[in-house]
Amino acid sequence: MGLFTKDIQTFEDLFLHQLQDIYYAEKQIAKALPKMAEKSGNPQLAQAFEGHLGESQGQIDRLEKVFAQLGETPKGVTCPAIDGIIKEANEVSGEIADKAVLDAALVAAGQAVEHYEITRYGTLISWAKQLGRTDAVSLLEATLAEEKAADVRLTKLAESRINKAAEAV
Ligand code: ZN
Ligand code: FE
Ligand code: FE
Ligand code: FE
Repeated sequence: MGLFTKDIQTFEDLFLHQLQDIYYAEKQIAKALPKMAEKSGNPQLAQAFEGHLGESQGQIDRLEKVFAQLGETPKGVTCPAIDGIIKEANEVSGEIADKAVLDAALVAAGQAVEHYEITRYGTLISWAKQLGRTDAVSLLEATLAEEKAADVRLTKLAESRINKAAEAV
């Protein structure tokens, strides 16, 4: 591939690429969350995953607003990182027999997802600020706050009961 055939030429192009990456990732996450809720033995964990599914749908809507602000049609590009995180979660859960141990693994998988999103939205916010896209900044910040809260919720659930229950097996 020659220099002029590359899709990403400018910082704006890079911002758009990162937006397409997280758009794809959010859609994969929205597909994975109901399955994670279904596998959860702890009802509060299932509820946390289901609640975050609702938030994720709102996050997809926010990303579509950001695409509109840029005059772009919403489009995803494959994110190998989220595909890998979800694949790893499925592989590990497939190897676990006990429900309580599985719950601990599901929390860990959920936190890997949240941390990926936190790094992506953090970068997108910095880039949007640099590019003077203040309209996008507030939308991305609202989502980042939800991702951080989802991560904290999972930590609290794990440390208050799920890890203890897993150890008791
Ligand atoms: Zn990418
Ligand atoms: Fe998200
Ligand atoms: Fe990615
Ligand atoms: Fe999330």
